[in-house]
Amino acid sequence: MRKKIVAGNWKMNMDLAEGLKFAGSIEKYFKESPSEKVLVILCPPFIHLAGMADILKHGKVALGAQNCAAEASGAYTGEVSAWMIKSTGAQYVIIGHSERRSYYHEDDKLLNKKTLLAINSGLKVIFCCGEVLKEREAAQHFLIVRRQLEEGLFSLTAEQMDMIVIAYEPVWAIGTGLTASPDQAQEMHKYIRELVKEKYGNDCAKKLPILYGGSCKPSNAAEIFSKPDVDGGLIGGAALKKEDFTAIVEAI
Ligand code: PEP
Repeated sequence: MRKKIVAGNWKMNMDLAEGLKFAGSIEKYFKESPSEKVLVILCPPFIHLAGMADILKHGKVALGAQNCAAEASGAYTGEVSAWMIKSTGAQYVIIGHSERRSYYHEDDKLLNKKTLLAINSGLKVIFCCGEVLKEREAAQHFLIVRRQLEEGLFSLTAEQMDMIVIAYEPVWAIGTGLTASPDQAQEMHKYIRELVKEKYGNDCAKKLPILYGGSCKPSNAAEIFSKPDVDGGLIGGAALKKEDFTAIVEAI
């Protein structure tokens, strides 16, 4: 059985004190009501990582970054490498979020490089893919996601794929209040699993967690998560409110 996962992407929210306090309250919640069947991951800004690794050391909640550099080390002012992230105690990194693809022009080739660096540093990767509204309206969504996976991910070996979680995030649903219907999510997740099966075989496809992201909230999470190929969620806005985030975890 695939592990269920709910990951919270805090984006550029909360200063250090706010973030550590919030992480402490999430950790306390899951210490008191452990979610045995669900792996919970918090992905704060870089500055929170080391402090949060200490707060989350009981292992009830895992920790991830939202991005990493495309180089291993050196003269890259302002960048944070995968290895530095690993050294904080974090176990995951999000790569290919649509905000990185669109605002920072990160293309498939660059994301492939980041993914390999992250894996080689011992980090598991939450690899995001998804189409924009125009592409869905032009019925290009399968083609787009296929390209993102083939060019961003499919240079990995089957062994390296064990370090991957895929997040399908239709860009038109991120932060917009619009959500893919449970059937739309299932259709794309099934397609992604088939692509992975074609490339890596059935065993790899069967154990790969595929998360849905895009305006997931307590009121729609249970229905989306009930679909057979949806293994959990990558949560943005609702990850910033304890009641909403914990309710989404419980919806699984
Ligand atoms: C995200 O940014 O990954 C996301 C899913 O955001 P939201 O839940 O706010 O749509």
